[in-house]
Amino acid sequence: MREELLRSLPQVSKLIEHYKDRYPEVYVKQAVKDTLDQIRKEIKEGKRSTLTDLYEFLEESVRKKAQTKLRRVINATGVVINTNLGRSPLAEEVAEFVSYIAKGYSNLEYDLDEGRRGSRYKLVEEYLIQLTGCESAFVVNNNASAVFLVLNTHASGKEVIVSRGELVEIGGSFRIPDIMRASGARLIEVGTTNKTRLKDYEIAITENTALIMKVHRSNFYMEGFVEDVKVEDLLKLSLPVYYDTGSGLLLDLKTLGINSEEPDLKSCVEKGIHLISASGDKLLGGPQAGIILGKKHLVEPIKRNPLSRIVRIDKMTLAGLEMTLRLYMEERWQEIPILRMLSYKPSYLRRRAKKLYNLIKEKVPELELGIVKDTSKCGGGSLPELTLQTYCVSIKHEKLSAQELSRRLRNLDTPLIGRIKENTLLLDVRTILDEELKLIPDIIRKALL
Ligand SMILES: *Cc1c(COP(=O)(O)O)cnc(C)c1O
Repeated sequence: MREELLRSLPQVSKLIEHYKDRYPEVYVKQAVKDTLDQIRKEIKEGKRSTLTDLYEFLEESVRKKAQTKLRRVINATGVVINTNLGRSPLAEEVAEFVSYIAKGYSNLEYDLDEGRRGSRYKLVEEYLIQLTGCESAFVVNNNASAVFLVLNTHASGKEVIVSRGELVEIGGSFRIPDIMRASGARLIEVGTTNKTRLKDYEIAITENTALIMKVHRSNFYMEGFVEDVKVEDLLKLSLPVYYDTGSGLLLDLKTLGINSEEPDLKSCVEKGIHLISASGDKLLGGPQAGIILGKKHLVEPIKRNPLSRIVRIDKMTLAGLEMTLRLYMEERWQEIPILRMLSYKPSYLRRRAKKLYNLIKEKVPELELGIVKDTSKCGGGSLPELTLQTYCVSIKHEKLSAQELSRRLRNLDTPLIGRIKENTLLLDVRTILDEELKLIPDIIRKALL
């Protein structure tokens, strides 16, 4: 029986022939080999007694092998800065500029006025100075490297005082204290988890203290018996203060109708904080980058640190960052997707949910659909206390569970990622891009095939 089944497996070359007009041969070969290996193994282990599903099995395998690994997905989770889904999508004009610069040569390190070597860092420094009023600015690969570089430059072999309440972990096992230690700085922890007072810092200062560091508690919110020292007060300690703000906010959140204490870069500079760092792809809404701002005499040595080369920003990121900063310069923040999403009013979201509801209803009438009021989140370790009122389209299928439905939607060429609440799949319309709305009915249709 097993022998017979093994012998009746089609020839490899025949199978490859079957697919190679539709998919590049290199992926077809891999998929055929993997699938046949798998099937032979199942037969030998007695787990398979038929080959009727062979082509179905193979089709799926070839399709998967031929897909790019990195793919666009539709974010219907309602988490705006979704770290798992690539944090901030870029504005249209920003993405176009990245592609334009990437396709050709550029003046990345060439001074066009002088006709000689220039600096890549100059390209965005002027914008950052104008937008925040800082004396000097520098950009690196991400904020984790900014933290490392600031501390390595100014506090290697010296002490940095930081509150215990701020020794945070920011997703994916990135822990501020680990980065600090790796930089060669000696961490002096003061206060307790919920309370740190100015006096705690004062007592900890020695002749070896290089910096006072404040880390924004970006991804959690403490309520109740809590006391910490405002950054303004830390400035009274007559030592350089370094503030890792996390989110890189470049406008007043009230503009978006959001009330929050989230620090924005401009007001940090205005307060006179000596060094500030932030991410490029959180509330700033640009590409992954680390931004360092501050007093000239403290930022210049960071630029000269040889380790800055290790965390150097690349040209596509610089292109994305420049164009994003220009949108702020021109007061066109509405074009930055995450800021637009955060600013949506519930009445608008309800209309949007109704629109999506109708689109799906028309194409996939067999589903049980509804419109549900719920809340979305900012995400990305920003504004954890914030809940944004939103509307979702709820989807129920008479046979498939919400888990099975989401699994199928994840497995398509354009995966659609929603969230599950009380055994119902919800599509939160806040985080779906305009051009994606009309694609959704066909995606769902395909998932049900
Ligand atoms: C997110 C975050 C970081 C890490 O930034 P990346 O750009 O992801 O490297 C560091 N510090 C704080 C306070 C953050 O919120």
